[in-house]
Amino acid sequence: MTTVLPSSVPAPAGTSTTPDSVPSVTPPPASPRLVAAVVRGQRIAVPCPDSWCVRDHSNEDLAFLEDLSHEGEEIALAAPEFGGVTEVLVASIRQWPFVNDEDRGLPYLGLDATGEGDVAALGRSAALAFADQLVAHATEIRRLAGVL
Ligand SMILES: [Zn+2]
Repeated sequence: MTTVLPSSVPAPAGTSTTPDSVPSVTPPPASPRLVAAVVRGQRIAVPCPDSWCVRDHSNEDLAFLEDLSHEGEEIALAAPEFGGVTEVLVASIRQWPFVNDEDRGLPYLGLDATGEGDVAALGRSAALAFADQLVAHATEIRRLAGVL
């Protein structure tokens, strides 16, 4: 028996025809888990994005539901400075799901470029554009290091 492939175009050199080479399809977002939160002493169930939120909502008593926020794990770049290291480009995913502002309560990337506090809330396209700038900057640092 012969297996007929859907395309007669040969695979480019260096690529595999195993199932691992099939482009992945992004699965639909999973339903967020429900977690316990406390608002003025009352325990309520709120949806929490378990794929990134690391906050313990049950461990805080909020004055208002709008005070509830989801927060992802922080990442930072350890930048050398004279006599030590300082953390810059501190970033994490954040969301204030019950605040009805211009972001409509959607998740964003909180970016603290200098390590002195949140200075930017970036949506997906802005975060990707900034990441591209960082890659270009790293390329320039490599180029400068090559001169040494
Ligand atoms: Zn959460």
